[in-house]
Amino acid sequence: MECVEVSKVFKGDGVSTYALEDINVTFEEGEFVAIVGPSGSGKSTILSLLGTLDLTTSGNVTYNGSPLNEYSSRKLADFRFENIGFIFQQFHLLPTLTALENVMSPLFSRKVPYNKKERAETMLNQVGLQDKYNSLLSQLSGGQQQRVAIARALVHEPNWLLADEPTGNLDTDTGEIIFDTLHGLNRNKGCGVIVVTHDSELAERADRIVEMKNGKIVRDTRKQAYA
Ligand code: ADP
Ligand code: ADP
Repeated sequence: MECVEVSKVFKGDGVSTYALEDINVTFEEGEFVAIVGPSGSGKSTILSLLGTLDLTTSGNVTYNGSPLNEYSSRKLADFRFENIGFIFQQFHLLPTLTALENVMSPLFSRKVPYNKKERAETMLNQVGLQDKYNSLLSQLSGGQQQRVAIARALVHEPNWLLADEPTGNLDTDTGEIIFDTLHGLNRNKGCGVIVVTHDSELAERADRIVEMKNGKIVRDTRKQAYA
């Protein structure tokens, strides 16, 4: 997944805000990346563009060399289903449904070659919620709800999990559990993870740290692989 000369400008009341300015960056399959930087530096914007929740003003987001700007909305929807899972600071789950129903929800309108309920149960097992299938969302703690959100984001086995401040509403210990969960899924399932966070301690757990400032990438470092 790649950003090629990507800029994003928000226009309003005669003022233009450059949320992103001429970004070039490549994310490799299977990487665990943290995007850090101060509030307003463009972290959420770049994640939205990578997840095709929004379009660039200029430049292109490409996937295996193919520019997403040129996709029809139908093709984009299929692209997202195949490749992208998204989680947010506010979990964006359906409070009147059970954990299992929430995890199954992305599959409701899709034809898939597997049993939807079994797949959703497997995902809940993988985030440690094997005893919560039938709990209503409102009966779960914040950390448990975020784990449901992770299970839902990955139930269709996308290649990438994009997470925007997934620990922002959680206490430190719970935030660490969420990060460990993301780590485990990255290692076991091989899905790439890109996490936006302003918590630099959590960011240190990633393999690669991309730091943003004023809509630009000011640092991009990879951890040395263990010998
Ligand atoms: P971060 O996630 O690092 O806090 P954002 O990507 O949310 O930063 O925002 C980058 C800049 O773009 C900020 O100046 C923000 O105010 C502006 N911005 C983001 N989204 C919008 C929007 N929908 N309309 C107008 N300005 C926006
Ligand atoms: P985050 O906490 O993930 O950084 P933000 O507070 O930056 O989120 O943005 C939350 C939402 O508000 C996003 O959809 C973003 O596009 C929008 N937004 C951010 N800044 C502005 C702004 N200056 N004007 C209008 N919308 C904005």
